[in-house]
Order: sequence, then structure tokens, then C-alpha cells
Amino acid sequence: MDNCLFCDIAKGVATAFFIAEDNNHLAFLDIHPLAEGHTLVIPKKHYPTIWDMPARETEAMTEFARYIASDRYPVN
Ligand SMILES: [Zn+2]
Repeated sequence: MDNCLFCDIAKGVATAFFIAEDNNHLAFLDIHPLAEGHTLVIPKKHYPTIWDMPARETEAMTEFARYIASDRYPVN
């Protein structure tokens, strides 16, 4: 996908302050945070909107977000 900031971040073309990564997802700080630690979670694979993601992939991304937001996730 051309002209997609999230894909550029996933490819390393655009910079971000990364929080976490797994095989299919990335988490990084929002450049215009609404709260301290405001984190974006995205799939590495491009989708125009979350509604274009297969439900199974949305569920996996939600589990990734739940994990990094939990107290089970290490914070430095
Ligand atoms: Zn994209």
C-alpha cells in the first residue's frame, strides 16, 4: 500500500517509539498523545480500516493489545 504511514512504520521507513512487537503486530507511542503512554497497536499487514481485517486477525490484535496493557507485560 502506497502512502500509508502505518505501513511505513512497519517497514522501518518512518520512525516511531516502539513499545512492543510480535510476528504480526506493532505497538508504538502516538505522536499526538491524549494521555501519558498513549499507545497505538497496528497489524503489520496493511488494511484500509479495522473493519477490513478478518475477525480472527482483529481478535489476535486485541489479545496483543490486552497483553501489553496488562501488568503481565514488562515495563522498564
Ligand atoms: Zn498500511
